[in-house]
Amino acid sequence: MSDVLYFNGRFTTTDEPVLRVEDRGFLFGDAVYEVFKFLGKRPVFLDGHWRRLANGLKAIEIRNPWTAETFAATMREILERTEFDDGIVYIEVSRGEGERAHFYAEDMTPTAVAFSRRYGFPDAAKKARGIRLIRDEDLRWKHCDVKSVNLLANALSKKKAQRAGADEVLLIDGDIVRECGSSSFFIVKDGRVITHPLDCHILPGVTRDHVIELAGDRVDQREIDVRELDGADEIFITSTTLGVMPVYQIDDGATRPIGPVTLELQRRLDEEERR
Ligand code: PLP
Repeated sequence: MSDVLYFNGRFTTTDEPVLRVEDRGFLFGDAVYEVFKFLGKRPVFLDGHWRRLANGLKAIEIRNPWTAETFAATMREILERTEFDDGIVYIEVSRGEGERAHFYAEDMTPTAVAFSRRYGFPDAAKKARGIRLIRDEDLRWKHCDVKSVNLLANALSKKKAQRAGADEVLLIDGDIVRECGSSSFFIVKDGRVITHPLDCHILPGVTRDHVIELAGDRVDQREIDVRELDGADEIFITSTTLGVMPVYQIDDGATRPIGPVTLELQRRLDEEERR
């Protein structure tokens, strides 16, 4: 079935081949993206996704095709045109089309696309069971705070995890645990909820922000050494599509029960998403 597609100011469906081969998003990965979730036709945490998109475009000097108001109106219209109530919207803005050359014109017209999709969000059983991670070296570029479409390193690492029968990959940089292939990473130790600080090594996760707010003064934002993983009381990851997801095993290490802090934050985030 085709999905609703917004393309440069008009609405069509994903059946229409809208992109030109000389779009810099295709040729150079010269683009940023966003994914937000909607439940009962209502977007979840849309402001956070808008802010991160606007920041990313600014960081790589792509003109923002929207204002906060036109962005919200466009997303609302996509949801109104969508036949189902729950799913995700994928948004991408590239620098635009132009003859293939590394040097780009200063004032290119960006290409903006957004489409809705059905999505298999984890059910209660999956959320109670949790997931398994494998570790892999973090080979990404040095601006992981920009949500760039250059996801080759993430995709190759995630494929390794899938081949090893795991659900997600934990990216390790020297001795430091950064984050996962497409999710933020947390440990709980002696009541403290610990996650990597915001810097160029991780994506500023929208879900991460909300979980930090829910955990309040229990949070420490600091680097986590790989040697801390074995002794952690609880481990969980967060993302738009997974919410708070417990981790029951890393590589072939000991399996760990799902802890009370993880379950509390999972329940409270689910409530907030539906508010
Ligand atoms: N970290 C990475 C590398 C990601 O790709 C994602 C989501 O795609 C996240 C973290 C989680 O971000 P969010 O909570 O905004 O979905």
